[in-house]
Amino acid sequence: LMLLTRKLIEVRNILKEIDHESDQLTLPSIVVIGSQSSGKSSVLEAIVGHEFLPKGNNMVTRRPIELTLIHTPARPGRPTKDTVVEYAEFPGLGLGRITDFSHVQKTLYDLNMAVPATECVSDEPIELRIHSPHVPDLTLIDLPGYVQIASMDQPDELREKITKLCHKYIQEPNIILAVCAADVDLANSPALRASRQVDPLGLRTIGVVTKMDLVPPEVGAGILSNNKYPLALGYVGVVCKNNLGVFQSSKGHDSAGQGRMSSLVAKQESDYFNANREHFKAPARGRNAGVQPMTGTDTLRRRLMSVLEESMGSSLHGIANAVQLELEEASYQFKVQYNDRSITAESYVAETMDALKLRFKEFASNFGKPEVRALLKQALDEKVMDILAQMYWSDARTPELSQLADARKVSAEELDKYWAYKLDASSSALTKSGIGRLSTQLVVDSIRTQIEHLAQSEPFNHHPDAAERIVAFSTAILRDRFGLTADQVENCVKPFKYEVEVEPNEWEAGRVRSVQLVERELSMCEGAFNGIKKMLGGRRLKGAMEYVTHLEERERKRVQARIRAREASATSDLDEDDSNDPTRPDYNSALLIKAREALFLTERSKMLRTRLSTLQSKRCRSGPGAKAFCPETFLNVVADKLTYTAVMFINIELLSEFFYQFPREIDAKLVYEADKAELGRFARENPSVRRHLELQERKEKLELVMGKLGDLVKVYQEKNGGGAGAR
Ligand code: GDP
Repeated sequence: LMLLTRKLIEVRNILKEIDHESDQLTLPSIVVIGSQSSGKSSVLEAIVGHEFLPKGNNMVTRRPIELTLIHTPARPGRPTKDTVVEYAEFPGLGLGRITDFSHVQKTLYDLNMAVPATECVSDEPIELRIHSPHVPDLTLIDLPGYVQIASMDQPDELREKITKLCHKYIQEPNIILAVCAADVDLANSPALRASRQVDPLGLRTIGVVTKMDLVPPEVGAGILSNNKYPLALGYVGVVCKNNLGVFQSSKGHDSAGQGRMSSLVAKQESDYFNANREHFKAPARGRNAGVQPMTGTDTLRRRLMSVLEESMGSSLHGIANAVQLELEEASYQFKVQYNDRSITAESYVAETMDALKLRFKEFASNFGKPEVRALLKQALDEKVMDILAQMYWSDARTPELSQLADARKVSAEELDKYWAYKLDASSSALTKSGIGRLSTQLVVDSIRTQIEHLAQSEPFNHHPDAAERIVAFSTAILRDRFGLTADQVENCVKPFKYEVEVEPNEWEAGRVRSVQLVERELSMCEGAFNGIKKMLGGRRLKGAMEYVTHLEERERKRVQARIRAREASATSDLDEDDSNDPTRPDYNSALLIKAREALFLTERSKMLRTRLSTLQSKRCRSGPGAKAFCPETFLNVVADKLTYTAVMFINIELLSEFFYQFPREIDAKLVYEADKAELGRFARENPSVRRHLELQERKEKLELVMGKLGDLVKVYQEKNGGGAGAR
């Protein structure tokens, strides 16, 4: 029935991966306790047949070592790399199979030493599995040895910590392997003392008496007779003297089987018990009449197997029930919360990426030529307005231009050259303002903003790394295309820098648009003026504006006077006093600033109204020939042509490229490059997905365990004639 332990060890390891509150989900394991130097390590190594535990005086066991022994049948034939069946692995470390046991020893040493001396010991177990044809299926937990005498480097605190740690592990349903040295009085054994606290009847404690060779055989036999401190599972006497040095490599082991060390130790032991056969035979009389004392590592091994097996057998029913309950709960939750819908990390990733691509597609279809055109046109309109304000609307001669436009007699040719130059300069200011870079930058920024938005929205808010990568590769594509696109656009608008030809229909459309823009500008000026008026009050503002007008008038006079004075080469006292002010109001400077602003807005509005009437005039309606009279219209047409050209090339060089590459980059950078573990991590970043996956995995593991347990219960019932689980 060895199958049972083996299967239950498998179950135990699966259950360990499921977090559970119920203690009933823990399967028994053998916990090894004993004081320092009691020979604990030697016994464990004798059982495993390899020297693999770290040695040294400096508290080398600081963490529990959960040792799972897995019996692997030896393969027939000469051993090759593939048929090596004896190896160790640390499931938590991912180091793969380790066949050199000195490497195991070194790893355990490092893991233990990584616990800082200030902490003394750590609760966190080290998992170690050993596969070998020479080991039985067992789970053993090695714990730090009890400290008996507190010393400088092993303070009281350490003693307490170790006691506490051991106490935690020796609870039910675990089996306690209490290691005591034959040369120390059992009454002083901390292992037996600890065991008595949790198992007073000694029902689940096995005593191991080490160093039998250090006491006279009759004394040794006396200890094993189980009289003084009776244990239901009895005592086993062993000799495991292992005098190989610290970190002595166990390279000597032949790859087919036992290490030299273990066979040497085993020989020593059998030699000893053979030599003293007399003392270790079953007594003829007394309480133990006919019962042979248990001696030797082999006996111990078999004893452990049968005790564990029995213990597991009696746990079987309880465990099966507990697992069934947990499974029912998990299945119920899974049904209620997720309607039995299974997901995988892969499916989540695929869905997420599809959704991202879909949203991107939506964005792409809403960001075509018309949208880019609107975006660019708006930017260029702003530029045109700036140029007009600078070149025309602040020029005192501009009203004159409006009058000339109205005066039918003045033809464009007769117009002062001043206006032709001004128009050329304005047009150049627009065409030579770096349209290539400007327009490309505008579109790039707009795309980037959109992508950032995509990368921040659900569910990418849970995936900051992925979001960052999306932005990063988008930026990379855009950066890649930037120079080329900007150059192309700049090249193609080049002709407009020299001449812009305007068709009558283009002119009329431009005129209508320019009227709209100037109207908008006008209403903005009026809006701003009304804002100030509302803030200061109409009368106060009027007074302040008059005052500012007065100041400006006076300033102008002063300047004129100064000029006149200079012309007359005479100096005169220019400092008039302010006594002739209309009022000497207490206007503060903030108010005066506002008044100046209002004054400016009034003048600008007046100018814009004049310009509007020109733009609506017969002259302007007459066609492109009137361009010198109507710079607003002309610049608008130029801006329109620039936009049209820019959009065309931006579309080819930037948009199509980006829209093509982006979805492919999603696959390449986010999906294909990721391995299974990364996909799993990604999916778990999303809390709701993590909960879903966790519950689902829990349910699946419980189902797996339940399947295994169900089979075992059947087998066990058959073997035991239906008495499974009966204690
Ligand atoms: P641990 O500290 O409890 O793990 O004890 P060890 O297994 O390291 O053993 C402590 C010392 O006792 C080592 O020097 C061993 O060689 C020695 N020792 C262990 N078992 C025996 C034994 O059966 N006989 C003798 N003579 N010495 C032993």
